[in-house]
Amino acid sequence: MTKLKPPVEKNDYIDVSFEDLTHDGAGVAKVNGFPIFVQNALPGESGQVKIIKVKKGYAFGKLVTHERVSENRTEPRCPVYKQCGGCQLQHLNYEGQLQFKQKQVKDVMARIGHLPNVTVHPTIGMNDPWRYRNKAQVPVAEREGGLVAGFYQQRSHDIIDMDACLIQQQENDDVVQAVKSICEKYGIRAYDEQKHKGTLRHIMARYGLVTGEIMVVLVTRTSELPHKKQIVEEIVQSVPNVKSIIQNVNSKRTNVILGDQTHVLWGEEYIYDSIGDVKFAISAKSFYQVNPEQTKVLYDKALEYANLTGEETVIDAYCGIGTISLFLAQKAKKVYGVEIVPEAIEDAKRNADLNGIENAEFAVGEAEVVIPNWYKQGIKADVIVVDPPRKGCDEALLNTIIDMKPKKVVYVSCGPATLARDLKILEEGGYQTLEVQPVDMFPHTTHVECVTQLILKEEAGNQ
Ligand code: SAH
Repeated sequence: MTKLKPPVEKNDYIDVSFEDLTHDGAGVAKVNGFPIFVQNALPGESGQVKIIKVKKGYAFGKLVTHERVSENRTEPRCPVYKQCGGCQLQHLNYEGQLQFKQKQVKDVMARIGHLPNVTVHPTIGMNDPWRYRNKAQVPVAEREGGLVAGFYQQRSHDIIDMDACLIQQQENDDVVQAVKSICEKYGIRAYDEQKHKGTLRHIMARYGLVTGEIMVVLVTRTSELPHKKQIVEEIVQSVPNVKSIIQNVNSKRTNVILGDQTHVLWGEEYIYDSIGDVKFAISAKSFYQVNPEQTKVLYDKALEYANLTGEETVIDAYCGIGTISLFLAQKAKKVYGVEIVPEAIEDAKRNADLNGIENAEFAVGEAEVVIPNWYKQGIKADVIVVDPPRKGCDEALLNTIIDMKPKKVVYVSCGPATLARDLKILEEGGYQTLEVQPVDMFPHTTHVECVTQLILKEEAGNQ
């Protein structure tokens, strides 16, 4: 391959047309095949761009003027959309966002998965794609003696005050505002990242969509919290439906939000929520899907793809607090869940008890180690469900699946590129990818979640 000299230079002004979006939502224009990435530009648009940075294979530009404007462009609803960076697609209407996500998945299926013809369904969106998040984690800082709580400005650690986050449940916004003013009233100092001084680091709120229960977590640098009693009393008075007030102590210099120590200041250690018929206890540190309405859609799809009759043995790899496992257990003979975080497995066991589910067993460990051991012990799975983090499945796990030969594999993924990579390996190992269903779990962001159904090819031939 001959290396082309980039056809643009820094500070050039050029007229371009945009034909695509990158996975992080920037517009893509091409000059003699050379891609230019431009924020806030949409496919179908054109305009003048100033080149701000040139790399070997691509360049970044800044939109100077808009000429043609996409019919899918819309006014962002959030007044701080540009500064915040939490959402990347509010300037694209919702229909356009759903199409973008489907296209992203189709593109990686062809490019990385070598599956250009696989069925990728239209993305299942929300009827009302606003105020969906059930968890808020808001950093706190000081300005002119008062407290501000909001978000980090893009690419910085300056905190911008925010009254409302439009993708957050209203209840969580209300908690953040209430806790901020109560702490301000009692003169609580905000944590100062530079000096590693001060007390209050983050205000966290969790909301059970079905139960309406609320958890408030005060993340502090020190275990001492002045006026603790009064602060707790005032939170109880001003937050209806609060069931749990927690203090989490994080004394480290770190970007990680929660520390190791958690104390209940008032009420319960957990709040409860349900997805479908399954009830979950959620603690301050538990992983729980942030969009419960779409989680139900996602899990229903996974269940449909598993197509259980009640006779099957199922493995749920990367099971977290057992959400998918318990959903599947209602329709399977036996479910084995495996997860690397010990606390999550404790939660999974508790959640099984809470629902009277006796046919689910959970193990702590790496899926790529535990499942090969189960295979050696003679455990046979009819269906394997995997729901790995963004980096996808470990190859050792994929090879074990190929050896174990479950009739069906259901792959839940939050990273389309690694999904496509892993599907290629499973295809080479004897599986056929039947269909991919993107589900919009995170409207207005570029994140895409997918459920994929695979079937063992020799099985397909026997039918
Ligand atoms: N299925 C769950 C959680 C999915 S998130 C749900 O829908 O709620 C992915 C999970 O994989 C996380 O809980 C993470 O802790 C776990 N994990 C990461 N690496 C792992 C590994 N190598 N083996 C097992 N679990 C792992």
